[in-house]
Amino acid sequence: MEDGIVKAISGDGTIRAVIATTTNLVAEARRRHGLSYTATAALGRALTGAALVASVVAKRGQVTMKFQGNGPLGKVVVDASPKGTVRGYVENPQVELPLNSLGNFDVGGAIGNTGYLHVTVDHGFGLPCSSTVELSSGEVGEDINRYLVNSEQAGSVVILGTHLSAKGVEAAGGLIVQLLPDHTEDTICKIENNITTFGTFTFLMRRGMSLDDILRRVLQGFEVQPLTDIEPLSFSCKCTRERFIEALKVLDKQDLLAMAEEEGQAEGRCHFCNATYQVGRDRLLDLADGYGQGG
Ligand SMILES: [Zn+2]
Repeated sequence: MEDGIVKAISGDGTIRAVIATTTNLVAEARRRHGLSYTATAALGRALTGAALVASVVAKRGQVTMKFQGNGPLGKVVVDASPKGTVRGYVENPQVELPLNSLGNFDVGGAIGNTGYLHVTVDHGFGLPCSSTVELSSGEVGEDINRYLVNSEQAGSVVILGTHLSAKGVEAAGGLIVQLLPDHTEDTICKIENNITTFGTFTFLMRRGMSLDDILRRVLQGFEVQPLTDIEPLSFSCKCTRERFIEALKVLDKQDLLAMAEEEGQAEGRCHFCNATYQVGRDRLLDLADGYGQGG
């Protein structure tokens, strides 16, 4: 199944949902960063969550989420745009923990249950809007839910999952369901029942259910009106060699000359996608001279 995201509303206008499948982009993140199983589960949930939150809160621009907990994984940083691009990294990609008492990857233990989730929404104009909530469990879904309840003042449900085996990432995806202002007790009752009997997102995917099938499953009892087509999602980074060179231009002349003479090159690595860029000695000397063009 291709990675995709779709938004929908219930026919009675009481419930909104956004749902995504992210298997390929999580596998891509795992490959690029050489992630452990635990780190894949954690970053997979965070990447999926970022794609969903971007779809909920930003019409354009981007959403950045930083999980800063007290666990061994260190910080987890992801960003996503409503255009369907997602990227992210974890500070310590090789950290591996034993399975938790439920037999799942211990994402909460890896991120930690004490700390903060920082969310920045940049609409592409005006000042970015930042907010911070305390981590509730470090399990990612609950933490994102706390942010949504705080920032959107509306009840919501966040379900995220990454299923991994020795073969790699077999399924990843998630959904956010939000109560809209016109909801009733009946709406809450129906949606709670659907969530209680939902099982796990990746289990439904592995049973061959499509995005649309899973959407109808979680909104069972409601008439489902898609608000968008299924739009593609991918792991995509904005870094380029030109941007790396631009970043070098803030160094002063002596540092550039020292780099050229002592190292023979400058090398940079993008945190988000792990791409590396090299700039050779001649180009560094050009930059030191303030030409900025050539080699
Ligand atoms: Zn990059």
